[in-house]
Amino acid sequence: AKRQTTEKIMLYFDELNIDSSRVLLLDAEIRKAIEQKAFDVYYQPKVDTKTEETLGFEALARWNNEVLGFVSPGEFIPYAEETGLIVPISEVILEKVFEDSKRLAELGLPRLPIAVNISSLHFQHPNFLESIKGMLGRAQTDASFFEIEVTERTVMNNANETVEKFNELRELGFTLSIDDFGTGYSSLSYLVRFPLDTLKIDRSFIQQICHQQEKQAVVDAIIHMSHRLNMRVVAEGVEQQDQVQLLRTLDCDEIQGFYYSKPLPFDEAVRFMQTSLQN
Ligand code: C2E
Ligand code: CA
Ligand code: CA
Ligand code: CA
Repeated sequence: AKRQTTEKIMLYFDELNIDSSRVLLLDAEIRKAIEQKAFDVYYQPKVDTKTEETLGFEALARWNNEVLGFVSPGEFIPYAEETGLIVPISEVILEKVFEDSKRLAELGLPRLPIAVNISSLHFQHPNFLESIKGMLGRAQTDASFFEIEVTERTVMNNANETVEKFNELRELGFTLSIDDFGTGYSSLSYLVRFPLDTLKIDRSFIQQICHQQEKQAVVDAIIHMSHRLNMRVVAEGVEQQDQVQLLRTLDCDEIQGFYYSKPLPFDEAVRFMQTSLQN
């Protein structure tokens, strides 16, 4: 097992052209961080397109390491997926998210739904359902406060298995969301079979939405289709006012992006939510 891990590490830095000493350091520090539960969770608000009220949050992992400094998820998440370390990292994140959600209630605030990212490897793990059930039990919290985000790629790679898993997660009470929609290859016949609540349109479509007719046409079509299938639509990576205005006319349900807020530490996310709900 040790040898296999080392091979994976070599492959990883070969592919990404990263300095091998950094990878070895990264590996050692990630393992330590898992032991110490040293990952933080930031929350990015999702805002109602029409009323601008906060409707929920997406939980995003953050890691500030004493040796490596701030390591972006774009670096450590792919590495963790490659090595399988994503499973214990994800468990640290989920535990913190469950606690933070309960803190909302303790503060007398509405427990807005929090979306969590689940990697392909984790989602496909035979123990995934049992382990998440166990964590909910230990946290004494209800699944209905949480949404599971899996990417379009993850679900389309194993469509038959996904239908089953989604049904079980639904039974537990989770809502279900497809992340990065538009970047993979969806089969519509599968899409209609999945018990989905939300589609998140990838940032690559939103970025050029005001300047490329084709992108706008695709987004328009995704929104119409989703509504016919009783799904809500979230636009990701919204940064500009003209994008917000256009998404409003296209009847997009929710907006997530720097235009409203970047991902925030829990306390700041709470303040954002309180302000938006007072207006
Ligand atoms: P994602 O799930 O697609 O998350 C959205 C990413 O877009 C986040 O990057 C967020 O900070 C960024 N973003 C949000 N609004 C804007 C915007 O208006 N403009 C731009 N340029 N970016 C925006 P982040 O936090 O760096 O995460 C990157 C990816 O790492 C995530 O993409 C997700 O795939 C993965 N990730 C992050 N946290 C977790 C986690 O806890 N578990 C798993 N499995 N993956 C995670
Ligand atoms: Ca996501
Ligand atoms: Ca996304
Ligand atoms: Ca993404």
